[in-house]
Amino acid sequence: MTAGLESIYTSLLSEIGEDPTREGLLKTPHRAAEAFKYVTSGYHQSLDEVVNDAIFHETSDDMVIVRDIEFFSMCEHHLFPFYGHANIAYIPNGKIIGLSKLARITDMFARRLQVQERMTVQIAEAIQEVLDPKGVAVVIEGKHLCMMARGVEKQCSDMVTSHVLGVFRTDKATRSEFMHLISRGL
Ligand code: ZN
Repeated sequence: MTAGLESIYTSLLSEIGEDPTREGLLKTPHRAAEAFKYVTSGYHQSLDEVVNDAIFHETSDDMVIVRDIEFFSMCEHHLFPFYGHANIAYIPNGKIIGLSKLARITDMFARRLQVQERMTVQIAEAIQEVLDPKGVAVVIEGKHLCMMARGVEKQCSDMVTSHVLGVFRTDKATRSEFMHLISRGL
């Protein structure tokens, strides 16, 4: 079901002064439609489906951290990509989750039109919802093409957003430990 998107991309090519019938562009609307569908495929996923019951009972309440989860997303203001890494931690409260699921939850929210601030909150709240842990912390570093390729054209700026819940919010030592553990490269 990409016919609507394909015709939009054909119009877009004409509007910018291109010839959509030239050889190199003949399949571009089809490819672009498929690519756009892929980077927005998170709209068609649900948290239940992504987690797929990969939750296990566990008595440990030591901090679990997954660093440097790559993501690609789309800025909702410019429809330009932004990309980077998410760092996620939680403190179990009787339940743990398969580590790959933290990456899949990140992808589910990244593959939508986003602002990095909201994506950070959504990932933290999703983990809170499925695990009910003692705390969740999410720190995201992103590079925004809308800032790098246009506008102020700054190539080296990272945007860093964070959202913390539970003990990461109430206990300074826990928050500091997390920040220290992910600080490499920040
Ligand atoms: Zn933007």
